[in-house]
Amino acid sequence: MEIKEEFTSLVMDEALLKEMTFMHEKGQGVIEENEVYSNTLAGVWVTTGSTPVLRRNRIHSGKQVGVYFYDNGHGVLEDNDIYNHMYSGVQIRTGSNPKIRRNKIWGGQNGGILVYNSGLGCIEDNEIFDNAMAGVWIKTDSNPTLRRNKIHDGRDGGICIFNGGRGLLEENDIFRNAQAGVLISTNSHPILRKNRIFDGFAAGIEITNHATATLEGNQIFNNRFGGLFLASGVNVTMKDNKIMNNQDAIEKAVSRGQCLYKISSYTSYPMHDFYRCHTCNTTDRNAICVNCIKKCHQGHDVEFIRHDRFFCDCGAGTLSNPCTLAGEPTHDTDTLYDSAPPIESNTLQHN
Ligand SMILES: [Zn+2]
Ligand SMILES: [Zn+2]
Ligand SMILES: [Zn+2]
Repeated sequence: MEIKEEFTSLVMDEALLKEMTFMHEKGQGVIEENEVYSNTLAGVWVTTGSTPVLRRNRIHSGKQVGVYFYDNGHGVLEDNDIYNHMYSGVQIRTGSNPKIRRNKIWGGQNGGILVYNSGLGCIEDNEIFDNAMAGVWIKTDSNPTLRRNKIHDGRDGGICIFNGGRGLLEENDIFRNAQAGVLISTNSHPILRKNRIFDGFAAGIEITNHATATLEGNQIFNNRFGGLFLASGVNVTMKDNKIMNNQDAIEKAVSRGQCLYKISSYTSYPMHDFYRCHTCNTTDRNAICVNCIKKCHQGHDVEFIRHDRFFCDCGAGTLSNPCTLAGEPTHDTDTLYDSAPPIESNTLQHN
């Protein structure tokens, strides 16, 4: 199947368009300079050994995914403008291994690119920005290569790696994201080389939940919470990283005697030492920051949980004992951003 450039401004009805952009069973061909929009399912489906080339299309405003590679869908996606989708702009799963180059992927109600269920992909020189969730998710045994992408101004994290995710991340610029530049969690093991992670509104890199990582030659600077945070029990291999001039708001709040809820609210999870209080009967779901333990829970029977990502339930006012640090000045004026409460992400719905 081949769609040539004379289709450039053709207006097609939605059913026809959907049929035209469904590449399957060794489907090949070139799809260039089309406008693909307002589809109720994925704008473009690429499946089962097909290898189309999608170039310079505008793919936007879909009710689900923009471009969906699944069940060994391959091909080339380059120089496209992919924006304003309800789900991720690009989704790669189940053995799919596309080349994704020089696209703009932005303005999604969910993530920019989601790689999951053993997805692969060579993702290079893209600009991924202004997505409501992670710029790039790498999940469930996926192992993509990301090089020289710009991942910025996300309303969540830059790159989030979960559930045995791996990945080789090289020379990416990851900046001005609302949450961690790179969050590595739940048994994931990526390699990060020569990335620049900067100007984030939370941590530069956070590693937690039995994840490991190899960090080489990265520069991590001017992130608000700090540069690199490792939870209890996390081991990393590090070489030649520059972690410098971060704002270290978490350490500063701790040394000023503040409750960490003041810098995180319930919209983020600062990594520090957290405790529980037996006197106050806190549950496994509660965590209390170190300053609240010293002040609000002075003399109580307390227990260290671990160094990890929590927000402080004492400061949040969810414990029976009122927080004595709550009356102090709250947020710095530069700390607030729009963000949803910490509910489970609906990005998980394809797992
Ligand atoms: Zn606190
Ligand atoms: Zn207590
Ligand atoms: Zn407190």
